Amino acid sequence: MSTNSVSFKFDIKPNKPLLIAGPCSAETEEQVIQLAQAIQSTCPQVSLLRAGIWKPRTRPNSFEGIGEKGLVWLKKASRINKIPVCTEVAKASHVEAALKAEIDVLWIGARSTVSPFIMQEIADALRGVDIPVMIKNPINPDLALWLGGIERIQQAGIKEIAAIHRGFSSYNTSKYRNVPNWEIPIELKRQAPNLPLICDPSHIGGRRELVGPLAQQAVNLQFDGLMIETHLEPDKAWSDAEQQITPDALAHLIASLSTSLKEASQEDVYPRLDTYRQEIDRLDNYILELLAERMNIAHQIGNYKKQESIAIHQPKRWAETVKRALELGETNGLSKSFILELFQKIHNESIERQAKN
Ligand code: PEP
Ligand code: MN
Repeated sequence: MSTNSVSFKFDIKPNKPLLIAGPCSAETEEQVIQLAQAIQSTCPQVSLLRAGIWKPRTRPNSFEGIGEKGLVWLKKASRINKIPVCTEVAKASHVEAALKAEIDVLWIGARSTVSPFIMQEIADALRGVDIPVMIKNPINPDLALWLGGIERIQQAGIKEIAAIHRGFSSYNTSKYRNVPNWEIPIELKRQAPNLPLICDPSHIGGRRELVGPLAQQAVNLQFDGLMIETHLEPDKAWSDAEQQITPDALAHLIASLSTSLKEASQEDVYPRLDTYRQEIDRLDNYILELLAERMNIAHQIGNYKKQESIAIHQPKRWAETVKRALELGETNGLSKSFILELFQKIHNESIERQAKN
């Protein structure tokens, strides 16, 4: 198997997100080359060009990628514009073809990370190869599955690894194509602090106008990089037309990103930050004590229900509790979805406690 000649590294710098841009899919040779050129001239901060060659599509009979010939176009665009390139691989034969074509960086898509069999097949194909690999989160909100996929690639000996957060499928309707569930990448960063974490606001938002705000949100959360789908004529794109932006829009997005978050650590701000944090810690402690008290009562009520042969879950009572919480939440400016989720969690724990009697 050929080894890669270009040694791209995830060069992570504070306040300077690593930028990856390019079309959802490579469509024609001219498209790839012209786009690479446009990105280079309008957004020189972009350090890696992306394009999908094999596209995992939800339904059959839609455009499933241009296939292997696209690798040659990508490499040509890379040579002409002196920018490294990356593409998605989803099975061993993709890895082999991409390595043969000397693609610089690989990424593994959300529909692959979800399957340990596929991840192992890709990991085995990568054994003994020195190439950077980016692993997108699985489509379902499962941190262990994401970590498991990353571990398989690590165990194959790959040293340069990054994670990409592209949001999660949800049964509920939402303004996002894939809900961000920010707590999952935040927890990934806590468990793997040295793993570069890149955000893909294009696949989270699914709509052009959400890309900028999501990119800023990722920067605010200290993500290390951004992957943004870019196309010369987004409306005519062969896949993901609604979420792609032009190189000009990308340049504007980059220019308007406020990345100099370090300013918050200037001396005059510090004492105030400490005061806020002390106040938050005090309230968190209070919340925890109240929750413990609530759970103790759940335990007692569980005993009583058992004694009196009363069912643990009382749907009517639960409906009333939710209604009251939503009303009080609204009066206090708390969002419906937050209150509902919070109370569902509290209720679940309470049921567990009652069942333990
Ligand atoms: C993509 O990056 O074009 C892609 C298919 O992404 P995901 O795996 O996040 O759906
Ligand atoms: Mn896409």
